[in-house]
Amino acid sequence: KRFAPRLLQWFESGGRKDLPWQRDPTPYRVWVSEIMLQQTQVATAIPYYHAFMQRFPDVRALAAAPLDEVLHLWSGLGYYARARNLQRAAQAIVARHGGEFPPGLEAVMALPGIGRSTAGAILALSRGERHAILDGNVKRVLSRWFGVRGHPGEPAVERRLWDLAEACTPERDVAQYTQAIMDLGAMVCTRARPACLLCPVNDDCVARAHNLQDQLPEPRPRLARPAREAWLVVAMRGGHKVLLERRPPSGLWGGMWGLPEFPTRAHALQFCKEHLVGAAAPHAGRPLRHAFSHFDFEMHPLVVHCLGKAESLRDDDRFLWYDVRRPAKIGLPRPIATLVTRVTTDEKSA
Ligand code: SF4
Repeated sequence: KRFAPRLLQWFESGGRKDLPWQRDPTPYRVWVSEIMLQQTQVATAIPYYHAFMQRFPDVRALAAAPLDEVLHLWSGLGYYARARNLQRAAQAIVARHGGEFPPGLEAVMALPGIGRSTAGAILALSRGERHAILDGNVKRVLSRWFGVRGHPGEPAVERRLWDLAEACTPERDVAQYTQAIMDLGAMVCTRARPACLLCPVNDDCVARAHNLQDQLPEPRPRLARPAREAWLVVAMRGGHKVLLERRPPSGLWGGMWGLPEFPTRAHALQFCKEHLVGAAAPHAGRPLRHAFSHFDFEMHPLVVHCLGKAESLRDDDRFLWYDVRRPAKIGLPRPIATLVTRVTTDEKSA
């Protein structure tokens, strides 16, 4: 009860009020912003948000779009399951709710890709309904202010934080409060070097009183970071066309385009032998390592030039000859785009 009034007062002068999704905050617009912001900083998300809204101004436009176009507008943001789930949820809203965002927390949480915190944020920010939120920023603020021990990913700690989030959420001005606590976490109670002197709730903050800001919230217990590797065939035609293959609908980069990928070099060579008959002998390119949040991915390119007579695969639903000079509007993960650019440049100067 002592927390929200000070936060609301601070929000008047210190909070963010002119973000693109705050203009005309319909559930659809807030929802798209919340999904983009799950893994992305505000400044990075804004241009993507404008482009997304321009192409898909409402839920029906998003539901009816080809998946490739949705993924194309998401290319570079990473965590592509977010984009696939956005579209699946849009289709569910059209099919089950006549194109209107459903009422009530339960119905919103039943949509693909929307957890309790995101559902609460959408309903609080767009409709002013009283729901608590508990995203990463809020977890950090509450862990510090209440001095909550333990990693927030542990079920018991998370339950405690939800209880605190519920207790702190005021009866009125819920939209402002929700934005305020997110802003406090993003701009004042930051992960490194929080600006406690500027914080509106600093006089009774447990972390500040005991100098625990850099110990709370407690980090995830350390686990060895796994590594994965794969061999990627970079089949080239004319120095500027590269063979892409559509990836399976789920899993890493699901539904996007990638290079034909194999668990071993021998499997990759076998693919070349079967599908790129008459091509020049494959040779290794420079490997590229990409760090995902939970593992490292080492990509070994196997470069193969398809010469005039080489029998090669045609464009269809599964394969695509991608022209690096005139790139098609497709969903292409950033690390694959980097690898394609690097190999075509290396091959030119070889
Ligand atoms: Fe965070 Fe410091 Fe404010 Fe406590 S006083 S909530 S640690 S910014």
